[in-house]
Formats: sequence, structure tokens, C-alpha cells
Amino acid sequence: MSNPSLLILPGDGIGPEVMAEVRKIIDWFADRRGLVFDVSEDLVGGCSYDKHGTPLTDEVMAKAQSVDAVLLGAVGGPAYDDLDFSVKPERGLLRLRKEMDLFANLRPAQCFDALADFSSLKRDIVAGLDIMIVRELTSGSYFGEPRGIFEENGERVGINTQRYTESEIDRVARAAFDLARKRDKRVCSMEKANVMESGILWREVVQAVHDADYPDIELTHMYADNGGMQLVRNPKQFDVIVTDNLFGDLLSDVAAMLTGSLGMLPSASLGAPMENGRPKALYEPVHGSAPDIAGQGKANPIACVLSFAMALRYSFDKGDEAARLEGAVEQVLADGVRSADLMQAEGGKPASTSEMGDAIIAALENNL
Ligand code: NAD
Repeated sequence: MSNPSLLILPGDGIGPEVMAEVRKIIDWFADRRGLVFDVSEDLVGGCSYDKHGTPLTDEVMAKAQSVDAVLLGAVGGPAYDDLDFSVKPERGLLRLRKEMDLFANLRPAQCFDALADFSSLKRDIVAGLDIMIVRELTSGSYFGEPRGIFEENGERVGINTQRYTESEIDRVARAAFDLARKRDKRVCSMEKANVMESGILWREVVQAVHDADYPDIELTHMYADNGGMQLVRNPKQFDVIVTDNLFGDLLSDVAAMLTGSLGMLPSASLGAPMENGRPKALYEPVHGSAPDIAGQGKANPIACVLSFAMALRYSFDKGDEAARLEGAVEQVLADGVRSADLMQAEGGKPASTSEMGDAIIAALENNL
């Protein structure tokens, strides 16, 4: 059998810097764990525009469609701010998401013990937190028709439409239940069934999918406004949350801030299963290209490293190896190794991007 394939798209700004650390870790897993990937690397974003006049070539798009998983760094930067909308770096990322039909966006909110004091909430509320928000990404109010600004009775009216088909709800519910099977087997579905018909349908379909195919998972329903409140009151009550595009946009940002720094947050976007059973998948840190620190060796590579850990778990079914990598990150933080974004007033010299990567590899080595 051939090795699983991974397309790496480092992108712009700090993207290549953090990805270089992930490459070291990928090499470590090949050398020390016999986990070998067929890795290829290509351009996306501003660097692709510079070379090809487009943020994503058709060749790279085709490659992304054919590999088992894509790992992306970040795109964008001030040099590209004045470009026409159609060739902006972000269009490359949007094209990937759209053509791969990545309908389930996974945003974990995980609070490492050593960083609990970074959260705006009290330590005991967030320490040890490990929840996953599954946001529907390709439908709902950001795409529904009619949309626009129209004239009506002599004044303007702005319209967006919240619209979900049964099959769109069905497939994202399945993604959430499948994830829960790899975690604590609990799903909380959030909508506004009290005031929105789309919410009534959402709740009915999620319940029906559960009853038919996932009776081993504990399913609860919650109104999304209460969900926001519960996320800051007692976030540890949740395991997997599944919700629509609009509510998921808000709730995943709330949950992200429970954990502290942007440099720590991974994400995954998954689509339908391919012929080999693996889902179409794009893994990327939540942060952008951070032009203010690019090229200075200051970037925290952990968000990108944890995105690779998500790929191990969700694309390659290597949950034990993902846990090994996450454990190494936890160890490094517990040992007090800190990139600049993780330093508080205590002072001291921050670790560089490559020192962070080396420390993660040393921790992997120590726990073989
Ligand atoms: P950003 O996430 O790049 O940076 C926000 C702040 O967080 C900056 O101060 C930055 O230094 C810091 N930061 C981000 N990641 C960090 C890391 N790994 N380690 C340490 N510090 C980190 O957001 P922005 O400044 O609003 O956007 C910069 C560029 O990135 C823009 O061109 C924007 O369009 C683009 N962007 C891309 C993506 C993406 O590729 N998915 C996402 C957001 C923004």
C-alpha cells in the first residue's frame, strides 16, 4: 500500500516559518515512528500571485483534490492589500474551501494547564478544557438567497436568508457524531428552534440522524444564545458542539478566547468522504500571516503543529500519535518554554520559532 499523501501549502508571512517546524515534526514521525507520508509542497496566496499571477493555480487546486489531506500555513499581507479582489491571497483559500466542498469546520478549544492564566476567565473554569465546535461552513445565512440591499416603500432594506436543506444538516450532524465517537461521545446541537423555522428543522434532522445511526452518542439540544452563556459560565460541560454557520462563527470565536493566544489555535475543515473513506480535509492554524512579526523568528508554531495533530487524528486515524504530539506540546509548555506571544509580565527571553519546534521534538524524544 502506498503512503498517505499530504500537500503542504506554507503560504505567506509567518506561514513558511511555522510550517518549517511542522516539517521537522513530520520527519521525526517518519524516522522514529515509521509514519511516512508522501509530502509535496506548493504555493498559495501572495507567493503564488507573485509567481503565477493568481493566488491558487489550477494545478495546485487539482493536487489538493487528489491528496489525503492539505496542511496550510497562512495567506495575505500588506503587499497584496491593493490587489483586485479576484486575485487577493484570501481568494486562494476560499477557492480551496469551496471546490473541496468543506462543509464542516472543526475548531477545538483546548486549554493547556500551563496557560490557564492567559484566559480572561478564572483558572478553574478553563484549566483542562477540551471541547470541539463543529460549524457548518457552506450554507446558512452567509449564502442563502435572496440576499442584497433593496428599495422598498421609499427606503432601503438589507436582506439575508437563513436557509438549510435537510441534507446539509444531515451531513454536518454526521460529521459531529463521527467526531464524538473519537472523543467523549457527547454532542450538543445549538440553534434557535424557539424563534426560527430553520432551527426547528435543524433540531429535527439532528435528532433523526442520531436516532437512526448514532444511538451510542449522548445528544442534547440547546438554544444558541444560552449556548453562548454556557460557554463562558461552564465550558467544560461540553464535548462536541454542532451548530450552523452564523452561530458557529460567533460561538467558535468565543470558545477560542477561552484558551488565550491566537498562536495556539488549530482548525480543520472537512468535506465528504473520498473513495478511500477519508474525508476531504484542510488543516490550518486559525491565525493569519502576522506581517508584524514575519521574518523575525518570533512566531509561535504551536497552532500549526496542533493542526498537524488534528490531521493525524481525523484524516489518518492515528489518534494515539496525535495524543503523543499534543502531549509533547503540553510538556513544553509545562517546562516553561514560551514564544513571545505566551510571555506575560514575568520577563525573560522568549523562545524563537525554531527553538519551540526543537523543544517539541525533544519532548517527543523523551517520551518514546
Ligand atoms: P493575524 O492572525 O495575522 O495577526 C493578529 C495578531 O496576532 C498579530 O499581532 C500577530 O503578530 C499575532 N499572531 C498571529 N499568529 C501568531 C503566532 N503564530 N505567533 C505569535 N503571534 C501571532 O491577523 P491580522 O493581523 O488581522 O492579519 C494579517 C494578514 O493575515 C492579513 O493579510 C489577513 O488578511 C491575513 N489573514 C489570513 C488568515 C488565513 O490565512 N487563514 C486568517 C486571518 C488573517
